[in-house]
Amino acid sequence: MPDDLNLPEFPIPEDLRGQVTITTLDRIYNWGRRASVWPMFWGLACCAIEMIATATSRYDMARFGMEVMRPSPRQTDLMIISGTVTKKLIPQIVRLYNQVPEPKYVMAMGACASGGGPFKEGYNVVSGVDQFLPVDVYVPGCPPTPQALIHGFLTLHKKIAAQPIKAIPGYRKGTLEPLPIPVLGPDLINLRDLPRIPSAVPGSDPETA
Ligand code: SF4
Repeated sequence: MPDDLNLPEFPIPEDLRGQVTITTLDRIYNWGRRASVWPMFWGLACCAIEMIATATSRYDMARFGMEVMRPSPRQTDLMIISGTVTKKLIPQIVRLYNQVPEPKYVMAMGACASGGGPFKEGYNVVSGVDQFLPVDVYVPGCPPTPQALIHGFLTLHKKIAAQPIKAIPGYRKGTLEPLPIPVLGPDLINLRDLPRIPSAVPGSDPETA
């Protein structure tokens, strides 16, 4: 067993190291989860090329138990948003997110996914995927290098390792509501913003009536 599973307050005698571990359920459970995160196999733009490079033998995501990139959201733990998020695509991205089982994580890879990047003012670009999805880790860069993405993985591992099982949303009692799918019309409508959008019918907006 790896030494980092041991509780520091219960030192293991030298001759028993590697054979005996004193740990907590949270610690050993999260050790298994963080060492087997399966990313979804998809890409949005140029950042995806760096994500693909991270999976090659030179950088070797298999070291982290992450080499199984799944083409289905239902067999995925991690969505890496690797590229420019357009208004046309965000309804599909949110739909895929809703199909990923809990516990799930989102990584915004690169300047575009994090805040719109060089296309921030573009008529067709979302200024950051965090307007629609809860992002766990941001990876800076345009594009981020494979090393930067690996740093993002290690940051996510730390976050998973520190999560008490009882605090994980999918393990609590009750059902989780899916995120509202944005609507693409003449422009993109984030349904979460609806209460703040004044009505088009004069006199029907309670704040101005
Ligand atoms: S952040 Fe840079 S490299 Fe990544 S998708 Fe945007 S323009 Fe391409």
